[in-house]
Amino acid sequence: MRVGIIGGGITGLALTHYLAEAGIDSVTFEASEEAGGVIQTRHVDGHVLEAGPQRMRKTPGVAELAAAGGIEDAFVEAGDEKLYVYADGKLGCAPLSVEEFFRTDLLSWTGKARLLAEVFTRPGMEQETARDLFVRKFGQEAYEKFIGPLYGGIYGSDPAEMPAAYALDSLMEREEKAGSFLQAFRKRVGQGQKAPPASMEEGMQQLPNAVAEAYSDRIELETPVTDLEPVERSTGTMYRVETPAGTEEFDHVVCTTPASATADLLDGIATGVEDLDSLRYNPLALVYLESDLGREGFGYQVGYGEDLHTLGSSWNASMFDRDGVHTIFLGGMHEPELLEENDERLAEIAQEEFETVTGAESSVIDVARLEPGFPAWDQSWWTLEDVETPEGIDLATNYTARMGIPSRVREAQELAESLTERAETLDSRSLTNADSSTTAAPSDD
Ligand SMILES: Cc1cc2nc3c(=O)[nH]c(=O)nc-3n(C[C@H](O)[C@H](O)[C@H](O)COP(=O)(O)OP(=O)(O)OC[C@H]3O[C@@H](n4cnc5c(N)ncnc54)[C@H](O)[C@@H]3O)c2cc1C
Repeated sequence: MRVGIIGGGITGLALTHYLAEAGIDSVTFEASEEAGGVIQTRHVDGHVLEAGPQRMRKTPGVAELAAAGGIEDAFVEAGDEKLYVYADGKLGCAPLSVEEFFRTDLLSWTGKARLLAEVFTRPGMEQETARDLFVRKFGQEAYEKFIGPLYGGIYGSDPAEMPAAYALDSLMEREEKAGSFLQAFRKRVGQGQKAPPASMEEGMQQLPNAVAEAYSDRIELETPVTDLEPVERSTGTMYRVETPAGTEEFDHVVCTTPASATADLLDGIATGVEDLDSLRYNPLALVYLESDLGREGFGYQVGYGEDLHTLGSSWNASMFDRDGVHTIFLGGMHEPELLEENDERLAEIAQEEFETVTGAESSVIDVARLEPGFPAWDQSWWTLEDVETPEGIDLATNYTARMGIPSRVREAQELAESLTERAETLDSRSLTNADSSTTAAPSDD
């Protein structure tokens, strides 16, 4: 079997690795000159600046990928996982551990008691929004003060616009197994601590770069797929992949591309894909500030009701010892029009508001824009109900399955396993056919 992979982001790279391990032939086509997709690191004036993800969990899958790229020793791990929320004009530590729960002044005692009452609430329901579910289960105060800002912050989205059916799908599954969200969270935090938040010495993009280098014989950079067509062959349906470099045929094609690119590629091949174009993405601006804030932690999200443009801030300096670097996020679903402002204005907003929140002064290093940005996982996700791909085409994407890097790697591993099984079935079928044709031949004669 021969597999074509469209897109050399972390999903396509992980799939390349797992297929190579399984001995399955594959080619990965990446449109841009570098691998990594949204994992992008810039090096500006000696600073390491992340234009995409700021960190990832060092799960066994992520560690395996780094080892495949020969950079297993290049991980840098973050220390104490302290996240803050700016609410009521001050920074409070989000209660993500039992100690912080009792210590934090983000929540009143009534708010804390209401949050603990979650175990007595009805299970999450697919037809409610993430906001309604969180408020119903944990209370309004906990939602506004930290759950909403932290959860929405992962996507740059507003939980009031996110259907639980999609956005909280896997959380609800865990709730069903554990009995409540709090129990599921307690178990997950226990497991999460085994997989520490990490980056790489040279920044996040060192990981995809190293994997792409290790598999350079299987990866075509600067090779956008411009067309995909099914073609009938004696062995069954094959897929012809067209690029500026020529055409190639594959038994199986995996699309890991952003939604609008997938809509174009699968037009006329899969059903319901034309509406993939309507999946909303949240554009983001990132302003990099240098400051000797001198606080320990991962950063903060801004609580609801605060009169600020800032969505949140990542403290790269504290997490990974990155020379005073603090990344400010602006825009998102909250204020997409902010990206129309020029870099100077964005930098000014970020600097002023960073000082309001932390009291620290800063200087501006750089400004970046990420478009289309984060998949929003909002009401436009209902359109996925109609998407169906034919046999031989798979989607492995951060809008049809979970978005985090470890989940992308896990999905690639699972898909590689199922493709390996399929390849074995195809092999045994062709062996059986070959056997029956050799035994049949003499009697036919
Ligand atoms: C700003 C931001 C912050 C994030 N923060 C975190 C975080 O802190 N921790 C975490 O774990 N995750 C985080 N994530 C999520 C995670 O980084 C992404 O979900 C993941 O990297 C997506 O990888 P992917 O390979 O699925 O898709 P992508 O990275 O989007 O890769 C798709 C690739 O397809 C290529 N492509 C497009 N069209 C074509 C074509 N026609 N032919 C060939 N190639 C094509 C693109 O160039 C791209 O390289 C963040 C994401 C963003 C955007």
